[in-house]
Amino acid sequence: MNNDQIQFSFELFPPRTPAGAEKLPAVVSALAAARPAFFSVTYGAGGSEQQGTYETVMQVVESTGIEAAPHLTCVGSSRSGIAATLQRYRDGGIRRIVALRGDLPATATSTQAPGEFRYANELVSFIRELHGDHFSLEVAAYPEMHPQATGPDVDFDNFRRKVDAGANGAVTQYFYNADAYFDFVDRCQQAQIAVPVVPGIMPITNHAQLTRFSAACGAEIPRWIRLRLERYQDDREALLDFGLDVVTRLCRTLLENDAPGLHFYSLNQSEPTLRLWRNLDLPLPIAAP
Ligand code: FAD
Repeated sequence: MNNDQIQFSFELFPPRTPAGAEKLPAVVSALAAARPAFFSVTYGAGGSEQQGTYETVMQVVESTGIEAAPHLTCVGSSRSGIAATLQRYRDGGIRRIVALRGDLPATATSTQAPGEFRYANELVSFIRELHGDHFSLEVAAYPEMHPQATGPDVDFDNFRRKVDAGANGAVTQYFYNADAYFDFVDRCQQAQIAVPVVPGIMPITNHAQLTRFSAACGAEIPRWIRLRLERYQDDREALLDFGLDVVTRLCRTLLENDAPGLHFYSLNQSEPTLRLWRNLDLPLPIAAP
């Protein structure tokens, strides 16, 4: 493992309550001390958090001087709406975007997706069409398969479409089975897909929340982890210790086997992510002159 080369990043969401907004600057400042390569800020499909994403991205850049990448979902959007959002980011000095489809409304299928985009590869092509290489584009990857895909091969082909459309890199859905990630990377090598695929890391801090997220996004919680989490439901300290241990081991395994970096889903909390980061003993990157 060559720690100097590791690129790690922290994901935030735009605060949804006044209390969340008040807390966020301290969270960002604590995470910034670890000098990530960038922060990313999620974007609510359907428009609810679009302004919040812009404001959070700008606040992060202003307060830390560290790059911030907005997530941009295309489902339900028009080409003109996406074009206006892109221009606003470009005018604000943004150079990196996480380009996504977003989740469909519960009743829709892909072919009935509302708006002028159906899939993330169309968004990637559109951004390249309008802005050439101005933005570095990250896309989503699913080592355990996207929950709506009809099969792993089809899903992988669809991942390849995003890379062919011009993605510079990918961040994965979280997983707790490192072999799923290694298998995905092997398939990339076989398909001569050379972009970095950075594992998404979800700290384990809350059993009910993790179960809910995992059911929605198709991430598997291995039986042995699930059983232990159930056992520690009423013992928060034991659950945190167990979660930290499991995810630290996962991160070490990934880094020791050449994962190009780690993307932490911070859920707007600094401590679970920083505990992991400290456990991994990663050196601070050299500060830019
Ligand atoms: P796509 O790559 O378009 O894939 C969606 C589905 O369609 C897959 O099943 C795929 O196999 C299939 N497919 C793709 N292309 C084609 C094609 N050309 N023809 C036929 N089928 C196709 N959601 C948010 O709302 N906001 C966020 O900020 C957000 N951030 C995320 C960050 C990461 C790192 C990840 C992994 C996910 C994030 N999501 C976010 C969730 C994401 O929006 C959902 O998983 C969504 O359902 C799929 O988005 P995608 O970009 O992967 O879609």
